[in-house]
Formats: sequence, C-alpha cells, structure tokens
Amino acid sequence: MPDKTLALIAHDGKKADMVAFALSHRDRLLHYHLVATATTGKLLEDKCGLKVDKMLSGPMGGDAQIAAMVAEGKVEAVFFFVDPLAKQAHDPDIQGLLRICNVHNVALATNAATALHLISDKAV
Ligand code: PGA
Repeated sequence: MPDKTLALIAHDGKKADMVAFALSHRDRLLHYHLVATATTGKLLEDKCGLKVDKMLSGPMGGDAQIAAMVAEGKVEAVFFFVDPLAKQAHDPDIQGLLRICNVHNVALATNAATALHLISDKAV
C-alpha cells in the first residue's frame, strides 16, 4: 500500500472537473493511497479506474470523516473542488474541513487550477 494518502472530493457541479483532473493525472495518482467521499470516489473508480477508499457521502458526514483524518496527520494533501455557485446543506462540514486543513497546514486545492499546480510541481 502506498504510504502517502491524498483526499479527493468534488461537489456535484465540479465532479466533471474532478474526473478530468484524475484522468489527466492518473499515472501520478496511482502512486498514492486515495480516499474520497462516496460519490466522488465511485466516479473515480468507474470513470478513471482508480482504487479509492470511500468514506460517507459529503452530506452524510464524509467531509467530516476526511477532516478527522487530516487532523490525525493521515493525509498529505486535499483536493476539494468546491462549487461556489451552489448552496450546500452540509456547509458547516465543508467549512470544518477547510479549517482543519489550515489549522494543520495541509495542502489544499479548492479548484482545478490549484490542483494542477499541486500535482504538476510534485508538491505532493
Ligand atoms: P460526494 O460528497 O462525493 O458524496 O458527492 C461530496 C460533497 O458534497 O462534499
């Protein structure tokens, strides 16, 4: 099992971006242990052929589960493609995950452009 873990999450309006990102960088992602919220993880498995440990769906607590992993030092970087144009029922959990990444100084890409830098610069 790869020693470094990346977390991948995408809101519904950004799932296509996440799939495109993962397909473009599939070879690199294969070197990591991947965790994701349920729906994002299933898409990454089905559309990108990646092996993913799936947490609960975001609205059901998946973001909070990933935040706990970040707090415990188990995640190298978080790729969280947020949709700023959609209202999210689980906004408190989303803000919690963003906050925990900042508390623990864990690399956090909230859009595809930053994700590209993070993965291309081999920062992770
Ligand atoms: P999902 O959760 O991957 O299960 O859709 C993502 C989210 O909404 O935070």
